Amino acid sequence: MVTLTRPGRKSFSLGYRLRYDAATVSSQKSFDVVVVGAGVFGAWTAWHLAKRGQRVALMEAYGPAHSRASSGGETRIIRMGYGADELYTRWSQQSMEQWKKFFEASKAPLFHETGVLWLGGDDDSQMRRTSAALRHCKVPFEEYNRATLERKYPQVSFEDIKTGIFEPHSGVLMARRAVATLVEEALRLGVQYYNAQVLKPAGSGRLEQVETSQGERISAEQFVFACGAWLGKVFPEVLAARIFPTRQEVFFFGVPGGDTRFAAPALPTWLFQEDLFYGMPDIENRGLKIAYDGHGERVDPDTLSRIVTPVMRERVRAYVERRFPAFKGAPIVETRVCQYENTSNGDFLIDQHPGMENVWFVGGGSGHGFKHGPALGEYVTARLLDRAEPEPRFSLSTKARTQNRAVF
Ligand SMILES: Cc1cc2nc3c(=O)[nH]c(=O)nc-3n(C[C@H](O)[C@H](O)[C@H](O)COP(=O)(O)OP(=O)(O)OC[C@H]3O[C@@H](n4cnc5c(N)ncnc54)[C@H](O)[C@@H]3O)c2cc1C
Repeated sequence: MVTLTRPGRKSFSLGYRLRYDAATVSSQKSFDVVVVGAGVFGAWTAWHLAKRGQRVALMEAYGPAHSRASSGGETRIIRMGYGADELYTRWSQQSMEQWKKFFEASKAPLFHETGVLWLGGDDDSQMRRTSAALRHCKVPFEEYNRATLERKYPQVSFEDIKTGIFEPHSGVLMARRAVATLVEEALRLGVQYYNAQVLKPAGSGRLEQVETSQGERISAEQFVFACGAWLGKVFPEVLAARIFPTRQEVFFFGVPGGDTRFAAPALPTWLFQEDLFYGMPDIENRGLKIAYDGHGERVDPDTLSRIVTPVMRERVRAYVERRFPAFKGAPIVETRVCQYENTSNGDFLIDQHPGMENVWFVGGGSGHGFKHGPALGEYVTARLLDRAEPEPRFSLSTKARTQNRAVF
């Protein structure tokens, strides 16, 4: 447990493992880098910058991985398969290594190696592209036909499914607790945390400082805005039309009493992209997790209702009962409503502000970003400190104002 202190404020909890206390805190107001946003992208960026000896301020409006943040879910999938998109396969590989190393060093076992099972139906083109890329990137995997799937997973109904690709070493990250642990470790490395809402920066050329809603001013050489779905609110002129926050609902169904067939390794994490559903086995006894990956309506992350809709509830229930016959009539034991922070095609946005040379946009996780936090933080750090070559796909100029999803 790390205790943070700040003058003139009462002690309060900053989330899992973190406590924010009255009395001491730094009076430092000038840094090498200010990172705004303590979701997975901001936290890993701050951590990597601190590892490189930078004086970093991490500023967050609602607390690390809070319940409105995209990183605030209990669990997030880490998988290597991305169709033919080797860029993300390689980032997943690099990130997996870093996550594991980090969890080992911080003695926080927050990765479950459930395995990840891709399911393919009539159109097997994406499955073929996935297996080719996995082979090329030397990711271990197994290929199953329908008979093998039925033999290995008799608790699942494989209606409409013909093939499977199994990644045995992929699985699930305990998302919000991983971010809290990361922030804790970043603080140990010297990062200063500010529980503060940063106001929209104004002007052009070089930004000297940011101001918070409490009137505090913090200056730095460079500013990284890792604001997730809020990016369009902080930079409305440039990003309101380029970041598409969408409503996403997640359901957990109660496992039948005494039935162990729905926990790993009996059931892996799975994705069936043809119908856009995915799910996870029963992890930490929260139930069978199921979600629809299709984009919901456009939302405001501050005011979005976190209560699931009857329409999605019935759609997901029907799906669960079809795919997992033992769940007929099973109760919904938990739900989550979160937002994806989509770019036009699903590629990340990591680029400089067009009018402020020392201001960086970092976001656009687009429903698949969590796993990539470590590689992304390293990339941003290299861009800032080493002027490393930019990846063209992450540039602002590639971000259109209409959605046309291409990354799955
Ligand atoms: C339902 C759901 C399922 C998902 N499943 C997966 C998955 O299985 N695998 C996967 O890899 N990814 C998944 N994702 C995507 C992944 O969770 C996101 O891409 C990732 O968490 C984005 O992180 P972030 O740090 O960019 O944003 P966030 O976590 O939203 O963090 C942004 C932070 O910035 C703060 N902020 C914003 N404005 C300000 C301001 N002005 N001042 C101070 N602070 C500010 C916010 O409070 C917030 O904490 C999923 C997302 C959702 C919603």
